[in-house]
Amino acid sequence: MSSDSGFRCGRCGAPLEVSPETIVSICSYCGYPNWIREDLKSDIYIVENVVEEEAVKAARRYVGISSIDRPLTLFIPFYIVEAKADADYEALVRVTVQKCVRDSRGRTRCMSESVRVSVGGVLRGFHRRYPIAARKGVRGKTVEILSKYISSSSLRSIKLSEANLDKSKSRSILMIDLSRDDVRDLALDKHLDALRKKVEDEITREAKVKASIHGTPVSANILRRRITPRNIDVIISTPVLIPLYIFADEEGKYKVVLSGWDLKPLILEKPVSFIYRAAWFSAGVLVSGFAGGVVGFTSFYEFNPVLSLIAMVLGGVGSWYSVKKALRPVRVVVEV
Ligand SMILES: [Zn+2]
Repeated sequence: MSSDSGFRCGRCGAPLEVSPETIVSICSYCGYPNWIREDLKSDIYIVENVVEEEAVKAARRYVGISSIDRPLTLFIPFYIVEAKADADYEALVRVTVQKCVRDSRGRTRCMSESVRVSVGGVLRGFHRRYPIAARKGVRGKTVEILSKYISSSSLRSIKLSEANLDKSKSRSILMIDLSRDDVRDLALDKHLDALRKKVEDEITREAKVKASIHGTPVSANILRRRITPRNIDVIISTPVLIPLYIFADEEGKYKVVLSGWDLKPLILEKPVSFIYRAAWFSAGVLVSGFAGGVVGFTSFYEFNPVLSLIAMVLGGVGSWYSVKKALRPVRVVVEV
């Protein structure tokens, strides 16, 4: 990757960052989308971000640290893929059932039995939405969580050409280096996997219902299956730039990742507060108190390693867990 690639912005002439895979490079000076692969050209949309000051306020609130500084703002290009498919299937399933009978003396006797059941049918309209990052380099936890959140949110986007882009924003836009064809293959793989799992669940469910005339189904094993996908339909959006705010300090005390359009906390890592420690510690002491009846009331709110050791020894697993929680330096919260 180099800015000396010879490519220049079609609008302002600034040098562009281009790698061999780049499809679109967004000018970091004026925000103009330069299509390196003209043959793949389409509209680009952007989900507008909440202003930075609001993001800073939210981040401070979430981790309770008032010194949180300016975030790194990113716009990650995504394709939103809507995939649909039917499947027809047939399968042979071994179901274990349990049958209980009451004998003449009133005693209940239970027996297990294996039965083989054939099932078959059609599953229609299996639909999923897959947000797929249009970048080869960006994988990992953050993007995974972001994708999950995107698929459950309703996003409002506008055309990039109609967005009010200032210089700082255009510098945050990552270039696009996956084509719609690449994305189609990725989405198709995911969808066929999901379809297969869904059909297998359906097969197991049906087999248990069928086997229930022999007794109460306990477990089911698919012995043979044929699953044939049909009517596969994949619709891929034009690229959408999704905003993200990332806050992190140098000492690693905290990390906050917020969705850029509604400030949803996607990742929160923060030092455990005193109150939080105290709560877990008292839980630990309480458990050990019940177990041993030794630790007195006055020690509940004191944070003392010797006491925590006593609590650990006395209270067993329950208090050990609580105390371990209380001593943990960093709490990681991931919500979607
Ligand atoms: Zn430019």
